[in-house]
Amino acid sequence: MTPVSRKVDFPGLINPDGSAWHYLDTAATAQKPQAVIDATGRALGEDYATVHRGVYTRSAQMTLGYEAARRRVAGFIGGREDELVFTRGATEAINLVAYSYPDKGRVLLSQLEHHSNIVPWQLAGWQVDVCPLTAGGRIDLDAAEAMLTPEHTIVAFAHVSNVLGSVLDARRAAELAHSVGARLLLDGCQAVPRMPVDVAALGCDFYAFSAHKLYGPTGIGALWGRAEQLDAMPPWQGGGSMIDRVTFERTTYAPPPQRFEAGTPAIVEAIGFAAACDYVEMIGLDAIERHEASLVRSLRDALRPMNDVSLFGPEDSAGIVSFALQGVHPHDLGTILDEENVAIRAGHHCAQPLMDTLGVPATARASFGLYSDQSDVDALIRGIERARRIFA
Ligand code: PMP
Repeated sequence: MTPVSRKVDFPGLINPDGSAWHYLDTAATAQKPQAVIDATGRALGEDYATVHRGVYTRSAQMTLGYEAARRRVAGFIGGREDELVFTRGATEAINLVAYSYPDKGRVLLSQLEHHSNIVPWQLAGWQVDVCPLTAGGRIDLDAAEAMLTPEHTIVAFAHVSNVLGSVLDARRAAELAHSVGARLLLDGCQAVPRMPVDVAALGCDFYAFSAHKLYGPTGIGALWGRAEQLDAMPPWQGGGSMIDRVTFERTTYAPPPQRFEAGTPAIVEAIGFAAACDYVEMIGLDAIERHEASLVRSLRDALRPMNDVSLFGPEDSAGIVSFALQGVHPHDLGTILDEENVAIRAGHHCAQPLMDTLGVPATARASFGLYSDQSDVDALIRGIERARRIFA
């Protein structure tokens, strides 16, 4: 085991009978380290109280903890705390921008986007344009350059594809967006658990991600946005905590980020989110990136010689490998692998337009996390070989 692969920190990786579970669906959601489970347990137990309103000590302490979590999560991506809005997840973060961005015009998306970076724009009434992919499965930035016009006010791309694992050249995407006066939103769901992210260095204007893919709790995520962008955006949900003064005649609103956090927030989850950032940084994102890259290489090297296996996505995909086994539906493969204690994802991965582009109804997807190791790759390959024998 490499120093990165700390399976012992993750109770979810052990089956009830004590056997190892080869969990290869981390791109869907990551297993939780004990440090996150303990931090949320404390927040739900001995530390529990509401935030922002209480006049008693416990609530004041919880408020400090909640705001420290905001600072921690913002710092994790190189942002400022006043630019970090807690949301229910990446989905809500993208919806927030789609609904609240004051200058709704045309949005440029790409063919590999997750449904959560497609449907919000459609629902909020944007004109949607779609950038094609290169033959290697990356967003074709030359095509984006040719497509962009001053009518585009937002470019919204996945930083890392949840199906192909392709990594965007985010700096170039930012330059292209800015050259026509548009803002760049990055869907960072699959990037933050796999590589160091610094929003300032990337040059983006919005960054959306979910805690549960970063080894943290479900039900919370974040939207980072440049202060001047968030300032210009009106609230999109009303309620407690997001106001300055309410009368029946007129209501004024709190400044960002509170303006976008109506209601009692996900207090416990925010504490867990911060604990997840601590854990991941303790392991080190450079180390995680190298570790997942070596597992991707190992898996692709094992699959490449199999002439009945098609591999999708670029060779240097980040932690995610999509493939198809000829004559075996990905769902059947997933079921056979489950019998071998191997969990993969099979389906359209919430990216139906990408499936249309690839010309397949579904793919099988193995995705790694910091706890994955060669034993998981070996178990997957054994399971695939068994499926080939069954369907031969
Ligand atoms: N974007 C990408 C690239 C994703 O992989 C996912 C989750 N599969 C999402 C957005 C949506 O994240 P969530 O469901 O946590 O809001």
